[in-house]
Amino acid sequence: MFSQKVVDVDGLLIGGENPVRVQTMYDSVMSGVDVENILHKMRVLKSMGCELIRFSYVSSNDRENFTRICKENIMPVVADIHFDYKMALEALECGAPKIRINPGNIGAKWKTEEVVKAAKDKGAVIRIGLNSGSLPKNERGLTKADLMVETALEYASWFSSWGFEDTVISLKASDPDITLAANRKLKARCPYPIHLGVTEAGGTVTSCVRSAWALGNLLKEGIGDTIRVSITGSIETEVQAAIEILRTMGLRKGGVRVVSCPRCGRHSFDSQGFLERVEKRLLAVNKNISVAIMGCQVNGPGEAKGADLAVTGIGRKAFLYVRGELGREVDIESAEEALFEEIDKF
Ligand code: SF4
Repeated sequence: MFSQKVVDVDGLLIGGENPVRVQTMYDSVMSGVDVENILHKMRVLKSMGCELIRFSYVSSNDRENFTRICKENIMPVVADIHFDYKMALEALECGAPKIRINPGNIGAKWKTEEVVKAAKDKGAVIRIGLNSGSLPKNERGLTKADLMVETALEYASWFSSWGFEDTVISLKASDPDITLAANRKLKARCPYPIHLGVTEAGGTVTSCVRSAWALGNLLKEGIGDTIRVSITGSIETEVQAAIEILRTMGLRKGGVRVVSCPRCGRHSFDSQGFLERVEKRLLAVNKNISVAIMGCQVNGPGEAKGADLAVTGIGRKAFLYVRGELGREVDIESAEEALFEEIDKF
């Protein structure tokens, strides 16, 4: 949507007029585990709206499972490489359509050149990924944001000199202000798609707040082509948070819009527990509808009138409203299934 250049990651176009893409990073090792579990998780994430997933490729032990993951093609995958350029070459051999490297920790420049040439041969994309904690020596006394920008642009110019332009750049800091400053400066000088994220952003609450603030401001200014909300928590929540940022900004249409009551002393129904049970399932519903989950008769029927579907719990009973009309009354234990039955009918 925002950059001048567009890259193609296994059919997923990033940059230019394309939608802002949602990505996450797999949170465990790839080797020595049942690859079917990884594939299952990828399918769940995809059903929630995730479009790209990154895996740490740490050793040759990852080769077998990573090859299978690339081959299954559930969604485009990215191999995350640090220190050993041979791992980058290996990941590309496995079929990675995109790799993420920091040339500053790959070692000699010729090693980066080998990786870039191999990516070019394979038609793969490379993200130059710099974090504020892994920068070269600041010999010119630059601000951290400037040092990130200058370093990334220097690496990108190496790539260009080797005839490679399928580049994405990310500049991440745990400080949202530095993330903002670095990406504004980068955007002014760079035609490449930009991946946004606040790194090491903390647990769910802190990360969502910091990320929404930094990414929201940048996206509003037309900066950013893919995003990740990094959370010390579940990767499903990362995806959910990223999608919610895009939806709130009007950058992603469709899907279920949830309205739920914050609870107070009047609630006689566990709307929090109910929401936690249904929330991820609702994310996989590809219908443009609103669902209200309310905890008592004070605001429940009122909110229910404005929503396409509503569940109002009162004691042991749940009342389901369809387009503002009371449809069904069920036992609380059956409320979840009843809600999804009604959603299916839409
Ligand atoms: S809907 Fe009822 S329980 Fe929920 S916040 Fe409003 S008054 Fe309280």
